[in-house]
Amino acid sequence: MYQRIFLAAVAAVLISGGAYAADPAHAPAPAHGGGDHKPHWGYIGEAGPANWGDLSGDYHACKAGQSQSPIDIGNAPHQDAKPLAISYKPTRMRVVNNGHTIQANYDAGSTLTLDGKQFNLLQFHFHSPSEHTREKSAFPMEVHLVHKAEDGTLAVVGVFIKQGKENPFLAAIWKNMPTEVDHEQGEGNLNVADFLPSNKAFWNYSGSLTTPPCSEGVNWFVMDQPVEASEAQIKKFLGLVHENARPVQPLHDRKLIHRK
Ligand SMILES: [Zn+2]
Repeated sequence: MYQRIFLAAVAAVLISGGAYAADPAHAPAPAHGGGDHKPHWGYIGEAGPANWGDLSGDYHACKAGQSQSPIDIGNAPHQDAKPLAISYKPTRMRVVNNGHTIQANYDAGSTLTLDGKQFNLLQFHFHSPSEHTREKSAFPMEVHLVHKAEDGTLAVVGVFIKQGKENPFLAAIWKNMPTEVDHEQGEGNLNVADFLPSNKAFWNYSGSLTTPPCSEGVNWFVMDQPVEASEAQIKKFLGLVHENARPVQPLHDRKLIHRK
């Protein structure tokens, strides 16, 4: 059982578009050093986003990449795109606090299909404030649903959270939120399909992991319509995890595609 969870954590490290999900979920917390040889990185001070590219040769893309994430989603002209072909099924509740974010690992069998290519949903995790911004404004939170194809290609669906009424889907996860780092817990099931906004319009662009090593070639889908969470829910996350958003990166010559 431990082995399976450990491998899932390594997979999360390798694929994550996410804050700390790219940080070794089951390695000791960076401050404690330990068996993980990746340099410590974080969101403030010397190890913060401005210095990620200098912390390790492996993190070079963080400063030299030309297709980095997150970005500001503006009012770019839109092109026609196909709707998102998602098939999300219920999973066992498996919530991890990796010291940097709260991540819900997902059982096999839930997919996103792009041009006939299947991406498997591995996990979703949280950032506060949002990493992507819309016309320069951040939302209180953003959720990243991380998918990986057999060939290793990544696709991440981003969903903004605005402050509003309590979100029952989040309430179930927050109830299982481990306060101890590197601890996985959970009871019952969840289906992330219940969390998505009813309007499936999205912005699509080619970007990167938003955490070291900032690897590029990540197919991003940022949903237009935010979902809601209560002020208390947002505060509970921040109280445990603290701010974990990389600043927006230059668009350079990338084009955005908008599916209305
Ligand atoms: Zn993320």
